Amino acid sequence: MAANVSPQQAVAQQLARHLGALEHVFVVSEPAATRLRIECFACCKHELLGELQAIGVTPRFINLTFRIDATPTGRRAAEVYEVDTTSVKKLKNFAR
Ligand SMILES: [Zn+2]
Repeated sequence: MAANVSPQQAVAQQLARHLGALEHVFVVSEPAATRLRIECFACCKHELLGELQAIGVTPRFINLTFRIDATPTGRRAAEVYEVDTTSVKKLKNFAR
């Protein structure tokens, strides 16, 4: 990891990795972004929202989009959320 990453960016990167490891959750912004943009399929929405609640951050619902997926139509609806990573104060809150 680059040495010139601020503590806040490091928090954002760790959060992005943590959430991106969840099934059907996709971080689509830069991982060090102040506001992480996250897409998720409805089937795994509760896991994502539960993780965010456990961390203590409130996601903002943005809109619906479509992602390429191995379904008969080749695409699948996904919900788009934004998380303000400056509201995450401590890495240990979501360290496994
Ligand atoms: Zn799912």
